[in-house]
Amino acid sequence: MRVLVTGGAGYIGSHTCVALCEHDFEPIVFDNFCNSSPEAVRRVESIVGRRIPVIEGDMRDREALLDVLERHAIEAVVHFAALKAVGESLSCPLEYFDNNITGTITLLQAMQAKAVHRLVFSSSATVYGGAETIPATEDSPLSVTNPYGRTKLVMEQLIADVCAADAGFAAMILRYFNPVGAHPSGQMGEDPKGIPNNLMPYIAQVAVGRRDKLRIFGNDWPTPDGTGIRDFIHVMDLAHAHVAALRGLPRQAGATMLNIGTGKGTSVLELVRAFEMASGRNVPFEFVGRRPGDIAELWADPSLAQEVLGWRAEYDIERMCEDTWRWQSAYPDGYA
Ligand code: NAD
Ligand code: UDP
Repeated sequence: MRVLVTGGAGYIGSHTCVALCEHDFEPIVFDNFCNSSPEAVRRVESIVGRRIPVIEGDMRDREALLDVLERHAIEAVVHFAALKAVGESLSCPLEYFDNNITGTITLLQAMQAKAVHRLVFSSSATVYGGAETIPATEDSPLSVTNPYGRTKLVMEQLIADVCAADAGFAAMILRYFNPVGAHPSGQMGEDPKGIPNNLMPYIAQVAVGRRDKLRIFGNDWPTPDGTGIRDFIHVMDLAHAHVAALRGLPRQAGATMLNIGTGKGTSVLELVRAFEMASGRNVPFEFVGRRPGDIAELWADPSLAQEVLGWRAEYDIERMCEDTWRWQSAYPDGYA
């Protein structure tokens, strides 16, 4: 199956391209490289031993999308391309609405025009907002606390509306929890531009000596060790969830929302300790105040994904840290 992978040069997209190739899908990458490097796709090619077509283009360019859907006879789309930094979304909301929502509308229009009716979409646990129910199930109340989250919720709803209006259209909406880790080869991993917003790349950069210490946002949360608890999931487990979703699409009508997590919570301090064990390095840290918009704890109930896709996460926290460290220590400056 020929699959258009929007944002395929990014962190999750590039790892998913590896899994797609290993399961006999043909990925075609569409990316404007606003937050990634073409080098990531070259690494995918060297791991899987085959060429991957790459189209440099923007999601809001309808003609470019129509052209790639037709020229490559695309049968399904995995849609990763989005801006994803919460803090940035608070200062530039319009840029986020335009890039993420306009980009998705343009994609859906192009898919409809070219009769491509299968979509896997990157959503996020951020749609559970204040996380009133833990573990979060797909029926938990939805709310958002920032413009990035709002774009995810709106995009989910747009896709569900398109599926409701067109019985032939089917979508898997995957709500990722906290993706971390790297390809086990150490050749690919997360390479954030500038100062990392997320915990794992920050820890990894401290361990490798790029940053002097981690700042832990709060040790007064109502959790056993006072630090936040999240459901960290290995990026290769996440990649395999996309393979399972593409395989499951023909059996599924309409839009199906699925939690993609491990179902286990790990605290910030537990992750720091696990990383120290995996890397053999110290990760100095200091406690600072809570980050605005953070919640105490959130993890997934991933049982629906297992039921619908036959998928579940395999890798544990130790493996997530080992693989992150293999990548970070081999490439301290990422793809640069
Ligand atoms: P990423 O920034 O590494 O990848 C996104 C890719 O999309 C990048 O290669 C970027 O250049 C591309 N892109 C962005 N806007 C584009 C546009 N207008 N046209 C073409 N390409 C464009 O991010 P990621 O971590 O790989 O995330 C992938 C998806 O998963 C995103 O939709 C993100 O919101 C979602 N998600 C990520 C996380 C996470 O923690 N990483 C958690 C939940 C959901
Ligand atoms: N965190 C932290 N220091 C950092 C980055 C994150 O203490 O530099 C904490 C954050 O407060 C949260 C957890 O790590 O409790 C996960 O944050 P991340 O931004 O990685 O993911 P989120 O769940 O917020 O999307």
